[in-house]
Amino acid sequence: MQRTTPPLKIIYSPGYDISCFGIERLHPFDSRKYSRAWALLKQEFGPALSKFHVRVDRPVRDEELLLVHSPEYWRTLRISAHLAAALEIPLLKYLPAWLLRWRVLRPMRWAVRGSVLAARAALETGVAVNLSGGYHHAKPSQGEGFCVFSDIALIVRQLRAEHLLAATDAILYLDLDAHQGNGVCHQFQTDHQVHIFDMYNEDIYPRSDQQARDRIDCAVPLPFNTSGADYLRALQQWLPACLDSQCRSEKVKLAIYNAGTDVFVRDKLGGLALSEQDVLQRDLFVFAELRRRQIPTVMLLSGGYSPESHRLVAATVRNLLGS
Ligand SMILES: [Zn+2]
Repeated sequence: MQRTTPPLKIIYSPGYDISCFGIERLHPFDSRKYSRAWALLKQEFGPALSKFHVRVDRPVRDEELLLVHSPEYWRTLRISAHLAAALEIPLLKYLPAWLLRWRVLRPMRWAVRGSVLAARAALETGVAVNLSGGYHHAKPSQGEGFCVFSDIALIVRQLRAEHLLAATDAILYLDLDAHQGNGVCHQFQTDHQVHIFDMYNEDIYPRSDQQARDRIDCAVPLPFNTSGADYLRALQQWLPACLDSQCRSEKVKLAIYNAGTDVFVRDKLGGLALSEQDVLQRDLFVFAELRRRQIPTVMLLSGGYSPESHRLVAATVRNLLGS
């Protein structure tokens, strides 16, 4: 029987994990979920995994990040207090900024580069997953919500600069992390070639960012503690309609899927109630809808603050690999 699963690329670097003398554990985030997800996949697929793997060649460079961030913001990254605020770990302000840049921001730079490589791979092969990234709260001049660099905006700007995307190409940004992707809305405030679909818990951070919410093209706000059944019903109701209205007017050249696993019921921050099976169904529904419309798709991990997060990610990738 002919294999129907499209080629998949998995972008991963051992440089993704974050460790800063244990202080990172003060945030509920599992800062090693990247290598844990990779290890689960490796365990299951063994050496066969290497044919899907794209190595990350280097961390993203300053000049690349300045495509999406202001020079003023850049200067604040040399101040520990600003970094501690963006990373939401107040104690970090007592560490020297150079140390934070090395132990915390450098892994994020690897991840941002991985997101760009994943988007390139998606354009070539159809589907790619970066086992990190998805920093959707990073604004042009401010980092917040554990997001310092906007890999999502960089995907668009850098691929345009490389002429892999034209300025007039339609791009879909699909955000199913439990938190509203306010940073992305600010990044694309006036760039309407990027069509934004965002389904989020309306009762949690960043609740007060009305300017961001006003930018969303298709917003699906959900109440606190929404069940998996209600979540999937809303997704099935709104996503195909949104895709159809977008595809009717112009061909979408790339979808960026921000697949936060903080929608999981045991997540400490997301405030939604999806089971493990619901999260998998969510992801598979998204990929099926995008594949049906032949839209190349790059998936980014984004948030996920439960010890199970890496298992949820691995389950989706395992299914995409067709096992
Ligand atoms: Zn989140």
